[in-house]
Amino acid sequence: MKPAAFHYERPHDVAEVLDLLAEHGDEAKILAGGQSLVPMMNFRLARPEVIIDIGVVPGLDHLVTHEEYVAIGTRVRHIELEQPATDGPLGSILADAARHVGHLPIRLRGTFGGSIAHADPAAEWCLLAQTLNADVVVASTRGERMIAAADLFQSAFVTSIADDELLTQVRLPCLDSDWKTGFSEFSRRAGDFAVVAVASAVRLVDGRIAEARIGAAGVGAIPVRLSQTEMMLVGHPLGPETIDAASEVAGGEVDPRGDIHGSADYRRDLVRALTRRALS
Ligand SMILES: Cc1cc2nc3c(=O)[nH]c(=O)nc-3n(C[C@H](O)[C@H](O)[C@H](O)COP(=O)(O)OP(=O)(O)OC[C@H]3O[C@@H](n4cnc5c(N)ncnc54)[C@H](O)[C@@H]3O)c2cc1C
Repeated sequence: MKPAAFHYERPHDVAEVLDLLAEHGDEAKILAGGQSLVPMMNFRLARPEVIIDIGVVPGLDHLVTHEEYVAIGTRVRHIELEQPATDGPLGSILADAARHVGHLPIRLRGTFGGSIAHADPAAEWCLLAQTLNADVVVASTRGERMIAAADLFQSAFVTSIADDELLTQVRLPCLDSDWKTGFSEFSRRAGDFAVVAVASAVRLVDGRIAEARIGAAGVGAIPVRLSQTEMMLVGHPLGPETIDAASEVAGGEVDPRGDIHGSADYRRDLVRALTRRALS
């Protein structure tokens, strides 16, 4: 199918993007990698009147490690994160997750920020943003603001980014070598969206877990933190008994709905299995 007619804009800097967003508001859509927007337009699920292509806008494809966080420019492609983009556990969990994002052509074109803005409930980057306490930087002609991941994802495909705002950067807190990360996903076929995915990051001090961040995707409209599992883990060594107990708590605290890809019970079982794998 072909999309409905639209007006195409190709701005040359961020200021021009923001002016266009201010002018057109909810009639406009940002075009990043196009791997979600274009299929939606072709199926007439989206009918924007104006497309604002950010493909040549400078300053949106940086990957910079700061002392406290790694800044990922919105237009960084999925593929760029397949090799560790930063040292240590954060680089390795990004690389683990990147390999699960779609197929190679999608990873070559799709962007990190586009995935976050699109907010698919099964998206790997949304899960990592939620699990690792990311901050999302957005800009408009009204100024710049930062949104914590916990406040970003409102519902499936709905975020708190306003119609006139451009997501410019995602900040992921650095994880030093005390952290151990894991990512585990189940999908029907390689390259499909996850049925369920689990991400984990635990900080070990003297052999015991001092801090835990566990998240799951595919169990609701947005990626969720498994707070009971996180609390249960703290104070324990990261051994087989703790991991078994944590996976049971994880399976018990999610409340997924069944659909054509799996019943609620099946998804709960997946959470158990994937939590075990992510922590192991
Ligand atoms: C067959 C197939 C399989 C896929 N499998 C997976 C998968 O397994 N996991 C996964 O996570 N994704 C998957 N995807 C989606 C893919 O990752 C997309 O690249 C991603 O969801 C959107 O990124 P994009 O750069 O292509 O954004 P676009 O498609 O260009 O935009 C998506 C939406 O975000 C908005 N947007 C984009 N950038 C910004 C910005 N900077 N500021 C504000 N709004 C913005 C757009 O206006 C649009 O509404 C798949 C896609 C296909 C076609």
